[in-house]
Amino acid sequence: MSMKAFEGMGPEDPRKWQLATQFAQAIGTQCLQGHQLVQNQSDGELELRGKWHGYPARMKLDMNFGSIEWEMKAANPTGASLFLHWNPEAVPNVGQFSGDVASDWGEDDSTKYFFGKGFYLGAEKAELDRLLAVYQSLHEHVRGALVTHMIGDKIARLYLYGHGSICLGFDANVYEFPDPVNQTARGVWLMGQVAWGLGQIDPGSLPAPEQAAPSGMLFKMTCGYCRTLYLWSQNQFCPNCGAPPQQR
Ligand SMILES: [Zn+2]
Repeated sequence: MSMKAFEGMGPEDPRKWQLATQFAQAIGTQCLQGHQLVQNQSDGELELRGKWHGYPARMKLDMNFGSIEWEMKAANPTGASLFLHWNPEAVPNVGQFSGDVASDWGEDDSTKYFFGKGFYLGAEKAELDRLLAVYQSLHEHVRGALVTHMIGDKIARLYLYGHGSICLGFDANVYEFPDPVNQTARGVWLMGQVAWGLGQIDPGSLPAPEQAAPSGMLFKMTCGYCRTLYLWSQNQFCPNCGAPPQQR
């Protein structure tokens, strides 16, 4: 399905609604079971609802294709909320944080731990070890899919809430995607991988909330070139600049 037609349409063009409906139908047919569309024409919003292999899922789309948000309901036995981001502007420049300006990085209460270029977990310091341990406890295939698709599909955020829902939002306008239906459909597929992965975690293996992880559980690294924070168990080289770990 091509979105080329969209670019020539004015803001109030009624064909936009038709195109948005076709787009949502194509995604529902491709990846959801028992899907239905809920339309709110006055707000210009369209909602696609259905199930992805048993998990209730819905997608919200506006008729101008300015944003797509996915949500999935999935039990989270860890009770922890993880905020995963992909933002190429968060990648530090090599050398930028050396010497006196080092304090520009990592001094505030929240910290970014990177797993891929521009892909990171944002966490408050008090909760950092538990949240890193949850991420690390996800099956390796789930972690691999996250690194590949957060970056490759320009997924700006994937939030796992402790109360049992997962939300995902894309960075780019949908009509600019090279393959809009498949790229949007992979969003719900990725959430499904995470939902399955969460169900595999034994919460008893995690550090208690606000407790430090036992030594040997997390191998925390700071890149000597760009000051990126990462886990050696996840990345053998700096995920942002590619530098090897330095001897301390
Ligand atoms: Zn680096």
